[in-house]
Order: sequence, then structure tokens, then C-alpha cells
Amino acid sequence: MKTYDAIVIGAGPAGGTTALCLARAGWSVAVVEKAEFPRAKVCGEFMSATNAPLFRDLGLAAFVAGTAGPQIRRVGLYAREEILSADMPRMGGGGQFWGRALGRDKLDTVLLERAIAAGATCWQPWTAASLSRAGDTSICTLTRKGESTEICAPIVIAAHGSWERGGLPTQIRRAHRPSDLLAFKAHFTNASLAGDLMPLIVFPGGYGGMVTSDSGRVSLTLCIRRDALQRARETSGLSHAADAVIAHVARSCRGVREVIAGAEVEGTWLSAGPINPGIRPRYGEGLFRVGNCAGEAHPVVAEGLSMAMQSGWLVGSLLVAEDGRVRRGAELDAIGAAYASAWRQHFAPRIRAASVFAHLSMRPATIGLLLPLVSRFPGLLTFGARLSGKTRETEPVLSSLRV
Ligand SMILES: Cc1cc2nc3c(=O)[nH]c(=O)nc-3n(C[C@H](O)[C@H](O)[C@H](O)COP(=O)(O)OP(=O)(O)OC[C@H]3O[C@@H](n4cnc5c(N)ncnc54)[C@H](O)[C@@H]3O)c2cc1C
Repeated sequence: MKTYDAIVIGAGPAGGTTALCLARAGWSVAVVEKAEFPRAKVCGEFMSATNAPLFRDLGLAAFVAGTAGPQIRRVGLYAREEILSADMPRMGGGGQFWGRALGRDKLDTVLLERAIAAGATCWQPWTAASLSRAGDTSICTLTRKGESTEICAPIVIAAHGSWERGGLPTQIRRAHRPSDLLAFKAHFTNASLAGDLMPLIVFPGGYGGMVTSDSGRVSLTLCIRRDALQRARETSGLSHAADAVIAHVARSCRGVREVIAGAEVEGTWLSAGPINPGIRPRYGEGLFRVGNCAGEAHPVVAEGLSMAMQSGWLVGSLLVAEDGRVRRGAELDAIGAAYASAWRQHFAPRIRAASVFAHLSMRPATIGLLLPLVSRFPGLLTFGARLSGKTRETEPVLSSLRV
């Protein structure tokens, strides 16, 4: 059985970031990823300005500056016939950084490539099928097309997201509910969206967002309740779920109608879900969780990618000791406790704010009451973006925490 210092399960933004942090410190790291890259993913692709120090630290600032879409300087709200916008809140230090969007085919791929270049071993496409603990070691069973093998390490980082089912103890199992949110995403070409604007879309039974990403393509993402989707399918008579959703959204939201009039879908619609917003345990017995696996914000705030990369950065930086040794036993538990508490302090407010915004967005009666207010005081959008973590930096948390 191959033995590593750490096994990272999943090479999304959380796993890629963690693997890169550990590998560049000289750790032997196995990254297990079930999908072949590059691959698209249901995600709006917006990355907050708060990631600038992380990109600098990981040596990715130039890549992001040269590849991502335009600087997003305004936040918007498209609801019913209203088209509203306000300034994106500015970061401290003069507001020189702005959030931007980058396709997951590019972001996840570059993080994984950099981790491999730093020495990580990549098991791809392999699925982590089960995980067990024997003494101080975790054993992970990997499967691929009828093949199976085992690898082990004292430390496992669960970074497999929260939308896929499977046999890992960190994967979520629950029955379907009418209130489940199902997610859809497409890239559009020739869409008429101002390059500096990221509008939140509100429609009966769901919410979504749009932003100009890399190569000028506009990413449109939507989350809709399972029961609302069912009604939209019955009303429209359209058999394809994504067609029924976009018809439902366009009918109820002028902003979306105007942006996609004359635009074409690039490739196909993607779907995922149900999504699982909430806060989960972050550490136990050598098992760290990062990204969506640790906690998930309703995507209404477009902060999941930032939280994924920043939690990976947090874990990676905390685990690396100055002398490069691999942490064990009580020292590992101390780091786990520090991480779990820093995570809650840093990310839980975003998750709670997102939950409030999501529930307000999905209720037509509340929207009816709030729209005139936001229309009169668009600065409320700037305030909401600030509450959702758009100016919350991870660097000070890191410097205060190194064990
Ligand atoms: C509609 C929608 C729009 C969104 N828009 C935005 C946005 O604009 N900005 C933003 O910041 N966030 C956005 N998000 C949230 C964001 O997509 C997630 O928070 C983010 O993808 C979480 O990253 P992660 O690395 O934790 O997990 P993931 O991105 O889910 O990556 C997990 C990886 O693990 C792999 N994997 C899974 N299971 C296994 C296994 N058993 N073995 C091996 N590999 C496995 C998967 O293939 C995948 O590559 C959006 C989400 C939705 C639903």
C-alpha cells in the first residue's frame, strides 16, 4: 500500500489549494480526483477580491490577472421588471483589487497542475470510495472502472464538495425534499451584460446570478426549488429541465430576458444538486474538511469558491511546520481545533447571511415589500455584499493562528 503524508480527496478549488500548500512545503501528497480535467462545473465562477493575497501567495496572481474576466465593480439586482445596481464594496488598502470570474475548466486545472508541479501525486480519474482509520493512519480505498487499490496517510483532507453521494463518512446522505435546491448553469456568448456588473437574479421559487467570465462568455447560474421546477415543467410543457427553468426565469425577470435576448448557449446546460447549505464539523481524528465539505453558503452570495480556496489555504498553512515535519497526534488535534474555530469565526457569518438572503429572495411576498426599498436605496446592495464577506480577508486570520 502506498503511504503519503496526506491524502486530499477532490481537486476542486478547496482540494487543489490545500494540495498545493502542502506539496510546496515538501510533503508527500496524494490528490484523488474522480473527474478528468479540464471539466466544466455548475458554478457562477465569481471570485471575490479577498482572494488576491491567496493568489499572490500561491504564485497565481499573474495567471488570474491574465486569464479571468473583467473586474466586477458593481453588484446588481434583477427582479421582476426592476434592474438595479450599486457599487461593489471596496477592500481596505485603497480598493485596488476587484473580484473577477474564471471558468472552472481553467481554475481547477491550474490549481491541480501547480500542485503536481510542486510534487503532489495525482490519482485521476480515481474515486475515493471508502475511508477507514487504523491507529494513527487513515486508509482510503480508490476505485476506477472495476479496479481497486488502497493508499494511506496520517492526515486526510476531505475536499470532495457536498453534492455527490458515495461511501465516504464525509458525504451527505439525506432523502429528497420539495424544498431541495437544484442548480443549473450555462455559458452564453453574445450576451448583453455590462462587463463590470454581477446581478443577483430573483424569481419565484429560486435565485441565480450572472457575470462576465473569461473569454467574454457570460456565466448564468440558477438554483430552483424541486417543487418549483416541477411546476415550471408542467406549465411550460418542456421536457428538458433546463429549458423549463430558463423559460420560467425569463418570463418573470426582465433583466434576464434582456441579457440573453440574441445570446447563444455555449455547449450545453449543466445541472447539479441538491445543494446542501449549512455548517458541518471541520476536524476529527486526522480528518480535515475544507470547501463545501466543511460548510456551504447559499450561492446567492457567490462566495463558495472563495471559501473553498481560503479554507484550503488556512488548513495548508496551519499544517505546515517551520521545519517541514509532518504533524502527528496531539499536535494535529491542536491544529484541528484551531482550524475549526477559525473557520467558524471567518466563514459562518457568510453562511448565515447567505441563508437569510436566499430565503428572502425566494419569497415573492418579501420581494414585493423589499424591491421598492432597494430601488430607493440601492446602497443596500453594497451593504448586502459586504455582509456576505466580499471584503473579509483571510490573511489576518492566518497570521494570528500559526501554531
Ligand atoms: C448555481 C451555483 C452557482 C455558484 N456560483 C458561485 C460563484 O459565482 N462564486 C463562488 O464563489 N461560488 C459559487 N458557487 C459555489 C461553488 O461552486 C462551490 O462552493 C465550490 O465549487 C466548492 O468547492 P469545493 O472544492 O469545496 O468542491 P467542488 O467544487 O464540488 O469540488 C469537489 C471535487 O471533488 C471531486 N470528487 C467528488 N467526490 C469524489 C470522490 N469520492 N473521489 C474523488 N473525487 C471526488 C469532484 O469531481 C470535484 O472535482 C456556486 C454554486 C452553485 C450551485
